[in-house]
Amino acid sequence: MNVHVDERLCKGCRLCIAVCPKQVLAMSNRVNQKGYTVAVALRPEDCIGCKLCEKTCPDFAIYVEIYHLGDSPLSGK
Ligand code: SF4
Ligand code: SF4
Repeated sequence: MNVHVDERLCKGCRLCIAVCPKQVLAMSNRVNQKGYTVAVALRPEDCIGCKLCEKTCPDFAIYVEIYHLGDSPLSGK
């Protein structure tokens, strides 16, 4: 699983952190161009691909990439 946070879009609302059942996400110590402290995928290896974070983020700043057995990250799947 790859969990991407688009730091340019994140507003640091922490909703994704609250909704994640596996505590994958956390606040980073980085501040984006708009002055918001941004979320980060701290433990992407624990992600179960439920996409709750993606659906919850009001700013569409998260994208969860699910790999299945046999998929190659280069295959576009
Ligand atoms: S897809 Fe689910 S488990 Fe993975 S980071 Fe998002 S909320 Fe957490
Ligand atoms: S829900 Fe979206 S905007 Fe809010 S902290 Fe998470 S990534 Fe950032």
